[in-house]
Amino acid sequence: MANVLTSKEEDYSQWYNDLVDEAGLAEHSAVRGCMVIKPYGYSIWEKMQGALDKMFKDTGHSNAYFPLFIPKSFLAKEASHVEGFAKECAVVTHYRLKDSDEGIIVDPDARLEEELIVRPTSETIIWNTYRGWIQSYRDLPVLVNQWANVVRWEMRTRLFLRTAEFLWQEGHTAHATRDEAVKEAEQMLEVYADFAENWMAMPVLKGIKTPNERFAGALETYCIEALMQDGKALQAGTSHFLGQNFAKAFDVKFTDREGKLDHVWATSWGVSTRLMGALIMAHGDDNGLVVPPRLAPLQVVIVPIYKKAEEIGAISEAVEKIMEALKSKGISVKYDDSDKQRPGFKFAEYELKGIPVRIAIGPRDLEKGTVEIARRDTREKMTVSMEETPAKVAALLEEIQQNIYKKAKDFRDANTRPADSYDEFKQLLEEKGGFIMAHWDGTAETEQRIKEETKATIRCIPLNNPKEKGKCILTGKPSEQRVIFAKAY
Ligand code: AMP
Repeated sequence: MANVLTSKEEDYSQWYNDLVDEAGLAEHSAVRGCMVIKPYGYSIWEKMQGALDKMFKDTGHSNAYFPLFIPKSFLAKEASHVEGFAKECAVVTHYRLKDSDEGIIVDPDARLEEELIVRPTSETIIWNTYRGWIQSYRDLPVLVNQWANVVRWEMRTRLFLRTAEFLWQEGHTAHATRDEAVKEAEQMLEVYADFAENWMAMPVLKGIKTPNERFAGALETYCIEALMQDGKALQAGTSHFLGQNFAKAFDVKFTDREGKLDHVWATSWGVSTRLMGALIMAHGDDNGLVVPPRLAPLQVVIVPIYKKAEEIGAISEAVEKIMEALKSKGISVKYDDSDKQRPGFKFAEYELKGIPVRIAIGPRDLEKGTVEIARRDTREKMTVSMEETPAKVAALLEEIQQNIYKKAKDFRDANTRPADSYDEFKQLLEEKGGFIMAHWDGTAETEQRIKEETKATIRCIPLNNPKEKGKCILTGKPSEQRVIFAKAY
């Protein structure tokens, strides 16, 4: 069967677009920059949500919901916050339409007294609410998460990776001490890294952003950075230590144990549907998506192979037993006995969708008491006895999860290189891409010039970075440590 995807080698970006389309993940909508997440894409997002939600609850957080709209004056209360988001805000100015000679128009008499911003992030509306929730140290900490959509009017968009509207979760916590808030921001970074590595099978670097790349309004932005197969980096999640900035802007104070009044300390942290893009680009191949078994909405598909209608009965009976056994092990499985498509078509379709394990059973298998098992990651096939199938599949799902992580990790490690001069840096960027570890003099000017000249940005200063004296690749000024540069999505 002809391949429906452009090969990665030929055009990575087209491969990505083809895959998102052909695997039924998402499509462009009538609204510029906004996507339709299709049922299969959404079912993977739901698996991500489920795993993350449990991790948030296991670390003491509860879900809540705040409004979609933010009064314009709220956004303006934290100076650097509004400065950072002003350029990409959608603004609601009116609340009614009316019929006129020119057709339906916005009713000029229905202008809002105060314009509303469609939330680009919810710090302001949430901290305005927290003022009513927090009076004393007894009210702290507040550990809240919200699952929501947000809007950032991005100019250049890509399905999942950067859209004008996206789905995400945003945690917003309030603490009595600086130390506790910093620990919370660090803890959530660990949660994200754990999720990326153990669920998405995607290795990540944990680090902090330079002041230039910090979240607008944060004192520190922690991040996880992943490397995609084309050598470009992707910021996969952020966790911010917000200091007392929002508490000051919204006058949120508490009395501590000694009766002293102080502003509350804050964090916020988020991951978005961008993770779907990360998943695609971390593991996909020329045959389609490769979904890590732990996130696969469907882990096993069984396809009957038969020529004569009377063969299907016996096959289905054997399949029934295997399905029972798989389900009792908590494995999700589907029997695709539809007669609308031929097995070869089905195989290609399930490979496109990245279903981790495929089982095929034909009359000859029945005679021998075997099945054919194919794993999606390596596309290897094996013949296994029916009795052994459930145990084999369970082990295989675990093995696939480990194998795709290892493959991604080996790739990341092989594409993380040091550069000791600006020439070497530019050559590596040009020829190989990947993460480049280089010395930087710590100034925003140098970071900016490197960005303008090479398009590479500082992805992060890794946590627990080894100290190493060196010279900045651009200015030759002294540096204490290497930072991670890359071209990024
Ligand atoms: P931020 O609030 O800017 O720290 O972003 C929180 C999370 O949302 C990060 O994990 C970002 O990678 C992700 N994100 C930011 N902008 C977009 C966008 N336009 N589309 C999808 N995800 C985004």
